[in-house]
Amino acid sequence: MKKIAVIPGDGIGKEVMSACLKVLEAFDFPFEYVFAEAGDETKEKTGEALPDETLQICKESSAVLFGAAGETAADVIVRLRLELETFANLRPAKSYKGVKCLFDNVDIVVVRENTECLYKGLEFEVKKGVTEGIRIITEKASERIARYAFELARRDGRKRVTALHKANVMKKTCGLFRDVCRRVARDYDDIEFSDYYIDAGCMYLVLDPWRFDVIVTTNMFGDIVSDLIAGLVGGLGLAPSANIGEKYAIFEPVHGSAPDIAGKGIANPSAMILSSTLMLRHFGYISEAERIEKALEKTIAEGKTTPDLGGNLKTDEMVEEIIKNIEE
Ligand code: ATP
Ligand code: MG
Repeated sequence: MKKIAVIPGDGIGKEVMSACLKVLEAFDFPFEYVFAEAGDETKEKTGEALPDETLQICKESSAVLFGAAGETAADVIVRLRLELETFANLRPAKSYKGVKCLFDNVDIVVVRENTECLYKGLEFEVKKGVTEGIRIITEKASERIARYAFELARRDGRKRVTALHKANVMKKTCGLFRDVCRRVARDYDDIEFSDYYIDAGCMYLVLDPWRFDVIVTTNMFGDIVSDLIAGLVGGLGLAPSANIGEKYAIFEPVHGSAPDIAGKGIANPSAMILSSTLMLRHFGYISEAERIEKALEKTIAEGKTTPDLGGNLKTDEMVEEIIKNIEE
């Protein structure tokens, strides 16, 4: 039995979480779901957005499924990522038949280093009008993220890893990152490797996104590039993410609590469902993950979707269609 902490959270977080669990229940996974509270409503009730009890449940679980938190998102999810020491942020972007987007047949996953770079908060005012920020890149964290990217490529049957950096200008920090990626690549003969400067990489991403498969990069570049690829395929309702650590992992949709549509029963459950298939892949349930993803793809292609994707189904109805396609 694997313990999974389930935090539905606020707004549509609750709606997409219950939809997602229905899909998982179509299988017989050896999971024990432990529900926990966090978010705006929890803060109102208990004074804390992320109660100790919730944190404890997360730390006793193999994975966390997270819906959404409203205004307290920073106190909840940013803190959870820190407490659970998740070093890799995964952001896949895929174009779906039947969804308007810039490019067809795009299928890219960004593996972003999540612990260092310019986002460590090492910023100082040297004197009035002069500020500095310190960029930390270590061999250890670079190697860990590079290996993770190659292992993920292998596991998911992906063909190529591309590292993005700016080693021509940031010779020490990006130079180290690039060299470590190149070295790790030699251990993976079965996976193609290339590396580009981040600026050129961004241009190729919009001219020829098909040349990318797995992208591995440092924290800040990864933040920017993962939004860029989300834009290539369009749609918050379809964007999942994962935060992976040595011991723990958190799976959550990219979207928030969407107060404008909360309670109407029309939230698109896809991003949450796709986040749960990232969890299944993490645990090694690759064929089950594929079955769910294919069923979702088919449902979308048939136009049986919530209004954000142009359909006229409610969340529950879309889930029924997905489950039908799983069982076919
Ligand atoms: P929060 O402060 O919790 O992030 P938000 O107002 O920023 O809330 P988001 O959840 O980030 O809202 O969503 C931005 C927009 O995208 C909203 O108009 C929302 O309705 C829409 N949206 C987001 N997720 C979904 C979804 N799963 N299904 C349908 N529409 C969505
Ligand atoms: Mg938002």
